[in-house]
Amino acid sequence: MAQGTLALRADAAENETQVRRTLIPREKLEVILVVVTAAAIGVSLLLENLNAPVWMILLANLTSYIAGGVFGVIEGVKSLLEREINVDLLMVLAALGAALVNQWREGATLLFLFSLSNVLQNYAMDRSRNAIRALLKLRPETATVRRDGVLVTVPTDGLAVGDVIVIRPGERLPVDGEVVAGSSTIDQAAITGESLPISKEIGDDVFAGTVNQNGSLDIRMTRAAHESTLARIINMVEQAQGRRADTQRFLDEFEQKYAMFVIAAVALYIVIPPLLPGGPTFNSNFYHAMVLMTVASPCALVISTPASILSAIANAARRGILFKGGAYLEQMGTIKAIAFDKTGTITTGKPAVTDVAPLADVSVDELLRAIISAEAKSEHPIARSVLSYAKAKQLSAPEADGFEAVPGEGVRASINGETVRVGTERLMIEDGAALPVELAALRDRLEAEGKTVLLAQQGERWLGAVAVADQIRENAPEIFKVLRGAGVEHIVILTGDNPRVANAVSQFVGADEVYAELLPERKLEVIRELKAKYGAVAMVGDGVNDAPALAEATVGIAMGAAGTDVALETADVVLMADDLTSIAYAIKLSRRARRVMLQNLTFALGVIIVLVISALNLNPLLVSAGRELPLPLGVIGHEGSTVIVVLNGIRLLVVNDEMLGLPARRRRAANSIGTTVKA
Ligand code: ADP
Ligand code: MG
Repeated sequence: MAQGTLALRADAAENETQVRRTLIPREKLEVILVVVTAAAIGVSLLLENLNAPVWMILLANLTSYIAGGVFGVIEGVKSLLEREINVDLLMVLAALGAALVNQWREGATLLFLFSLSNVLQNYAMDRSRNAIRALLKLRPETATVRRDGVLVTVPTDGLAVGDVIVIRPGERLPVDGEVVAGSSTIDQAAITGESLPISKEIGDDVFAGTVNQNGSLDIRMTRAAHESTLARIINMVEQAQGRRADTQRFLDEFEQKYAMFVIAAVALYIVIPPLLPGGPTFNSNFYHAMVLMTVASPCALVISTPASILSAIANAARRGILFKGGAYLEQMGTIKAIAFDKTGTITTGKPAVTDVAPLADVSVDELLRAIISAEAKSEHPIARSVLSYAKAKQLSAPEADGFEAVPGEGVRASINGETVRVGTERLMIEDGAALPVELAALRDRLEAEGKTVLLAQQGERWLGAVAVADQIRENAPEIFKVLRGAGVEHIVILTGDNPRVANAVSQFVGADEVYAELLPERKLEVIRELKAKYGAVAMVGDGVNDAPALAEATVGIAMGAAGTDVALETADVVLMADDLTSIAYAIKLSRRARRVMLQNLTFALGVIIVLVISALNLNPLLVSAGRELPLPLGVIGHEGSTVIVVLNGIRLLVVNDEMLGLPARRRRAANSIGTTVKA
């Protein structure tokens, strides 16, 4: 039965390839067998009408049984070997039971509908499973490589890391790389689900599968083809689809107990009624028992959840949202509180230098040189902004011979044997230095303008301060409203930055609470407190220095993750696009998926109840009409509901922003914090 097959395929992608490697692909064989089953049923009918000899009719019936039941038996035996009972077994038993009381054709009809519905289900499920694999086809077959000054065309598989590849306008990128010459804009929809062009300059990362637009680019290949971001996304999604959601786990366990219960109940039903005084004959009662066994099978119940989850995961992946498993997809819709790491989520995380303020006896260049020497190895966005500012001024500085990043505070470096410190007052205090009054006043003034201030000290000597300002994402207030509409009660901003900036940002976007000057480990504690208070809590961060908080949250979300490996690994949900709308999309999609699952469960359960009541001759409609539920009709109701449930789940594949009521997406629209504060 589909469930058995499904579990097998979903649990390990390798199994799927194994099945594929056989002579006739299993999917094709299943279709052929369904046709054979139907044909054999037709032949047996015809033979009966022609009064053919009994052995011929029996042969036709046996054919339909074998063709219709072979996969059911395989799956059933497989589960028995694992000491499990699944619905395949119930179906096969019911068909055999029908044959036992000489109702061959009814049993064959059961097997036919059962295998037909499996084929339909598998087809539909494969569609969701493979929706994402189609992305791989986006990689071009050949590439133009610059070798020894000449351009040669080589197959993409023959490329090696370090090759310089020429990408002409309109071409799709064959590999991940770094721009080494030229500039252009690139449509990164394949990775981020977002088709607005992103400008790329020398030094920027570019990804396989994305499309170069107006300029010509030389890129140096940085990752082997099978390790490209696109390939890893696809791998991750396929693994995620194999991980069961909580509801699914529950249903799988339920299937066991329930199947056992059905077998026991049917066994009693076979034995007891004929023994009662005035009870039915053994044969007619046995037939009823088989109808009962069929309609009581929980096929639709078991498939209701995976069908929805697979589709929703595939849908999200195409939108640049990677769920690491069905469980997170389910939980995302129940989130009551969200904590945002300010830098990089509420703000763009690309701060710019606004002020360079050396103390009286220090020159601008001296201050900047000390800072860039100290920050050269830092990966912090603030450090990068100062570095690129200094680079633009064509400043160079000696290399530090020692470097230490102090998370949430700054850096310590050793330059020509002297310790240089860049960062917050706390860092300096830890090292026993007191901030001069004039510098403290300068810092306060800059912070009042909503800027983040880096203090710099060389040895015992204070050099001055540099201020940077980040940009708030302009759509943040709007997205926060959408989040509240989707059931989020409490929105918190966490930051290691100073309280003035933090409050300005919080006010602009409309957060409920803001925590400033947080050290990374304190972020984790805040998440813990929120969980105690609100239950399900999501944390949105960059995945680099927020890893502990991301892990502590019910759902850890990394944003703007295209190209950053750490984020791909640490978060439960990865948003490739650097866009807040994705968070709202993820939550709304999850809520919709939960609704579809609930619909499916209700419907599946309803059908089972109605059919079981009918099979027990307790359905007043049938009783008053003097009718009983025939096996074929029971099977149609049963398998029909299974197919309907799958189709309902598949609908989640086509959901989009508009259907979820999300605002149109904008890119990089932003407000400077400085202006916000002054306003
Ligand atoms: P956020 O919570 O906004 O991501 P962090 O916890 O990374 O911020 O850092 C908090 C503060 O520590 C920053 O606002 C900055 O003042 C200081 N800081 C952190 N890293 C650096 C660095 N490499 N250079 C200078 N200052 C730093
Ligand atoms: Mg941070």
